[in-house]
Amino acid sequence: MTNNIDYIDDPIDGRLEIKYGLPGEVKFCKRCVISNQRPASSVEFQHRRDSRKTTIHFDDEGICDACRYAEVKQRDVDWEERERALQALCDKYRSRNGSYDCLVPGSGGKDSVYASHVIKTKYGMHPLTVTWAPHLYTDVGWRNFQNWLHIGGFDNYLFTPDGQVHRTLTRLAYENLLHPFQPFILGQKNFAPTMALRMNLPLVFYGENEAEYGNPIDENEGAQRRQRYFAQGQGEEMYIGGVPVSELPEHGIAPSQISPYLPANSDALEAAGIEVHYLGYYLQWTPQQNYYYSVEHTNFEANTERTEGTYSKYNSIDDKTDPYHYWTTLIKFGIGRATYDASQEVRNNHIERDEAVALVHRYDEEFPRKYFPEFLEYLNLDEDEFFEIADRFRSPHLWKNTEEGWQIRRKVA
Ligand SMILES: [Zn+2]
Repeated sequence: MTNNIDYIDDPIDGRLEIKYGLPGEVKFCKRCVISNQRPASSVEFQHRRDSRKTTIHFDDEGICDACRYAEVKQRDVDWEERERALQALCDKYRSRNGSYDCLVPGSGGKDSVYASHVIKTKYGMHPLTVTWAPHLYTDVGWRNFQNWLHIGGFDNYLFTPDGQVHRTLTRLAYENLLHPFQPFILGQKNFAPTMALRMNLPLVFYGENEAEYGNPIDENEGAQRRQRYFAQGQGEEMYIGGVPVSELPEHGIAPSQISPYLPANSDALEAAGIEVHYLGYYLQWTPQQNYYYSVEHTNFEANTERTEGTYSKYNSIDDKTDPYHYWTTLIKFGIGRATYDASQEVRNNHIERDEAVALVHRYDEEFPRKYFPEFLEYLNLDEDEFFEIADRFRSPHLWKNTEEGWQIRRKVA
């Protein structure tokens, strides 16, 4: 299935292969620290094994679309008008008898705490919250999840996928795609619309549109998630973990066990008139503000130490396997967790670019050791097998194998 292989000529090392259809020449945004190797969508709905990626666009001045979009939001958006639109939306759907009128998916992290709490207390809605469980809860993640419900005051459905199936899919996704989070992302993404259908709730609030950090700007306008986002892949054979669904029985997974990972039927969604809206479209959305908000309202706890691979203490801290998601993006695209965190903070004017560069140099390539034994056990791999698989996914145009080990060819400066 691998079609044409791309190469770039390096003055020292000669012809180097470029994997995944990435741009051959690595460039960094002049405003933040993201590189042009970033895949266009963080959701990375990757059906096939050999999919080529579209990547984030840089304009003539060398600024990435995510920075341009952040500028537009800070400069041009009339936030009072947007809030009035949110009021009108809530007025249309608010229940009079206190029954659920909307669904808010989340994990009890800072963003879902903010979304659900503000919708309930400021806009008078009656949200039902739903959660697709992490692979392996951290202690602090479990406490934050509990505090969200107990202190924030929310009803919640916690869905935990079959642990054997989820492990097998995660292992396949690691081996075939170096994307151990793909089954989690698929399940989490499809869970909210499925529950909205089941609970007969026509309004779903997501937090921010994560795609806006990688998408072309003109695809970001609008408050609603498009129907086709949920219908993706229907009518053609689905792949999970790089394996066609029809071949999963060979790995001990029956077709019926896959249903939690599949999208809700798009006709049923349309017939039910379910609307999915981004709260980040209506309200100014910054991770740091959401953190302060959740500390104040549900006793949200940050970690006592920074997360490995970055400098932050309060982003995505509920799953022990989460650091390996970012580590695999470092391997495939040369982009680690500190790059994502620092880029976001530059765009929100919390840090300057030279600080961001220093943070990336310091933390981006740090290997997450803390939960490594548990993650290896989860994947049923030993350490050698783990790294052997990962090394196959290093693109030669990004990585050089030297006597001191693997080195990234081009760093942000
Ligand atoms: Zn940028």
